[in-house]
Amino acid sequence: MRYLWAPWRMEYILEKRKKGCIFCKKPMEKKDEENLILFQSHHAFVIMNKYPYNNGHLMVVPRRHCTDLNQLGEEEFQALSYLLKASIQILTKKSSSPGTHVGMNIGKVGGLEKNTSIFTLFLDGQGTLILCRC
Ligand SMILES: [Zn+2]
Repeated sequence: MRYLWAPWRMEYILEKRKKGCIFCKKPMEKKDEENLILFQSHHAFVIMNKYPYNNGHLMVVPRRHCTDLNQLGEEEFQALSYLLKASIQILTKKSSSPGTHVGMNIGKVGGLEKNTSIFTLFLDGQGTLILCRC
């Protein structure tokens, strides 16, 4: 097993957990730049991970809190897919990385504290898979 050393995440690891779901609250606060939200549409948004494991760590999130992909409607899933594709295109164009890792966190088992479903992306600088705890 390989370990990833990301000491800048200690602030996140040690901080007191805030109540509520950041993926529901942040898009409503109308502070996109401060909240690291890059884009919002009616059904989904793209947000940078404040405590990334790696460069280019983005999350593509449905606007409606869903604990399971089956809860998403067709338009919501299409919005997620579109923003995922656009995010990959932008990361590829704006970096020298040879690739992008894409994963999906579904519920607490998927590594999320808030029991929701999101796509996660990050650049591949070395060809190594980096596990993500958003
Ligand atoms: Zn939520």
